[in-house]
Amino acid sequence: MTPQAHCPLCAADGGALIWRGDRLRVIRAAEAGFPGFYRVVWNAHAAEFSDLPAADRALCMEAVALVERVLRERLAPTKINLAALGNMVAHLHWHVIARHDWDSHFPGAVWATAQRERDLTREAQVAELLPQVEAALKQVLDTWAASLH
Ligand SMILES: [Zn+2]
Repeated sequence: MTPQAHCPLCAADGGALIWRGDRLRVIRAAEAGFPGFYRVVWNAHAAEFSDLPAADRALCMEAVALVERVLRERLAPTKINLAALGNMVAHLHWHVIARHDWDSHFPGAVWATAQRERDLTREAQVAELLPQVEAALKQVLDTWAASLH
């Protein structure tokens, strides 16, 4: 699928690039209040998940699962949220979000209305772990990509 004009995820990484493979990349989103917020972005332009062939769908979801597992191991979140919306940017990407029961929106979605004040101290504690998270992500994804060849 050819790059689409005016598509921000065709034009740029879409966040801090953590890892890039042939088919997909992982970025850290800059979403205030949610430090453990990553996205698995399909490199080629595809609007809907079912636009991908079955083998590519499997590849995409395996990457999502690998990111989820690293976030669970390193951040011990209350819950992982997975979502693919694409209403604003219709270029396939999965949100992989570490949620904590103290975060400003829990148990609502990160896109819903806040339920409490942000806890900046705890957010900073999570943010301090992100270099370790991202080193682990690179290692896990490199190992996985090598296993595919
Ligand atoms: Zn695109």
